[in-house]
Amino acid sequence: MLNLSQKCPHLVTRRSLCRRNIEKESRVPQPLHPPFLQETGSDSNLTWRWTQNGSFSSASAYRILADTGVRSSYHLSLWKIKAPLKVRIFLWLLLQNRLLTQENLLLRGWPSIQSCITCQTTTMETAPHLFIHCPFAHRLWDMLQTRLNLPVINFTTDLVGFWLANRSLLGDQWDIIWAAASWALWKERNARIFSAETSIQSKLLENIVNDVAAWTLHI
Ligand SMILES: [Zn+2]
Repeated sequence: MLNLSQKCPHLVTRRSLCRRNIEKESRVPQPLHPPFLQETGSDSNLTWRWTQNGSFSSASAYRILADTGVRSSYHLSLWKIKAPLKVRIFLWLLLQNRLLTQENLLLRGWPSIQSCITCQTTTMETAPHLFIHCPFAHRLWDMLQTRLNLPVINFTTDLVGFWLANRSLLGDQWDIIWAAASWALWKERNARIFSAETSIQSKLLENIVNDVAAWTLHI
């Protein structure tokens, strides 16, 4: 003979209605706010939790959404660079090695080829290669050094080191130069892959110099 649970399993609760469960179910829930808002002041205004003044900013939102729980000391300096927000987001992804380079596409299981589109060799397109060590990038940095009368550019092996080492040598001006040149290299790489359009370094150089001037003056 079938018992009740076998005949009508949907009628049988998984929890017994003991006193403890009844008390738990009957508690009045506390008001909840989304985790990114907080109450401030005597009138209980809701403010944005992730900025000092309580006002929302897209940069702070992106920072929280992309935060992996590991905070690096360069975060604050990065978001203060005088470049458009989309460029700062790009730089953040660059330093986290989250740009969709050929290497990262392969790691994600996407079909990819082991080559670099800018130097046109079979070198794996990693972020350090594309933005620092690729002969195309290296030549561009050399041209920038001459054009902008920079005393030196230190070619370190890693992305964060490349930014910070030269920042310590060249001061804040390096931030905008590095941002504009990295952005130009990424756009050139994408134009070659997605639009089959190619520019030479001298063209990129002019774009970078224009961006540096515009961002320095207007942002
Ligand atoms: Zn290359």
